[in-house]
Amino acid sequence: AGPTNPQPYQDAYSGFTEYVLSINRPQYPSANEMYLKEQLRSLIDVEIVQRIQPSARVIPFGSLVNGFATANSDLDLCILDDSPNPRYKIKTELPEVLAAEFERYGFEVKLLTKTRIPIIKLVQGPTAQFPLGLAMDIGFENRLALHNTRLLATYSRIDSRLREMVLFVKHWAKVRGINSSYHGTLSSYGYVLTILHFLINVASPSCLPNLQHIGAQVPVPFEELECEGYNIWFFKDLTNIPPSLNRRSIGELMAEYFSYYAQFDFRNMVISIRTPGGLLTKTSKGWTQALDRVGPEDQKVRSRNFLCIEDPFEITHNVGRTVGKNGLYDIRGEYMRASKLTRARDPRVFRALCEQR
Ligand code: ATP
Ligand code: MG
Repeated sequence: AGPTNPQPYQDAYSGFTEYVLSINRPQYPSANEMYLKEQLRSLIDVEIVQRIQPSARVIPFGSLVNGFATANSDLDLCILDDSPNPRYKIKTELPEVLAAEFERYGFEVKLLTKTRIPIIKLVQGPTAQFPLGLAMDIGFENRLALHNTRLLATYSRIDSRLREMVLFVKHWAKVRGINSSYHGTLSSYGYVLTILHFLINVASPSCLPNLQHIGAQVPVPFEELECEGYNIWFFKDLTNIPPSLNRRSIGELMAEYFSYYAQFDFRNMVISIRTPGGLLTKTSKGWTQALDRVGPEDQKVRSRNFLCIEDPFEITHNVGRTVGKNGLYDIRGEYMRASKLTRARDPRVFRALCEQR
């Protein structure tokens, strides 16, 4: 049915749509929680970071900004410094100095330096404002993350079904134990990219345009074109994007999503959202075996290439590089299980989808 159909979405999967929304609704973060998190960001920015390093700024990114936050989701922050003569060097000295300072403020602090960029992980125990405690990741100079956050935010404004699918998949992946890049599976960001690939390239008609390809590249300022050597341009004029001709319900799209990845050729293919058509071969990317590179502190960093997802901007980066052999086995198994359960279209059956594993 085209846009003339008075019904918002087709309804063959209405029971499953209802189930998806019933899982999602309790997870929407309240306006109050968003407000408190912004206050905390501001406190960290003004009272702690700018006092130690006046030229630095603290910018939020990740789910808090891209529209995919859930209640109690972590707070992703990025510290930037444009000054040519900063008090402390941003990638080497500042992380150590700040880690010590956060400790004085009573946060539980872990400084990770073996990661691609230094990261401070902060945990705050339960407080009146955050009764379940709060986790924060503070990265240094990860400017590309700000741009991919903006790309995801733009996609989420085009079609509201995207956000519902993301919230559901995040929840499903968490309870099924396949959402941890530290334990050999995939980050939330990776799952979001799998959903975007599906909505742009697989759903027919497509639910989302490829924002990195539509629209004439009219002259734009350099900051919108390039960051750290990567092309970061994408189409931002939402008023000129017509609504999708795909009117399927959230439930039906979810079922198609699970069935697509249950059969996906993870062995040979790379999931992409930037490439027209959405698929690349591992061979064409040179992502055929595990690669070891030497990290900033002479330690080996292993990139596995079992599950490959091309980052939309940093195209040399495999977002799925944390997924090991067992991780892929589990992820594929969960896609197959989900696909089978959703095909049943019986509430007594698909309720098992989000049972804790
Ligand atoms: P959650 O609510 O589960 O924390 P999230 O949407 O914040 O979900 P995260 O996986 O925490 O997602 O990622 C936050 C941001 O960090 C992403 O928007 C992205 O910019 C960056 N990021 C996370 N994982 C990767 C990765 N593997 N490669 C590149 N950037 C990543
Ligand atoms: Mg996050």
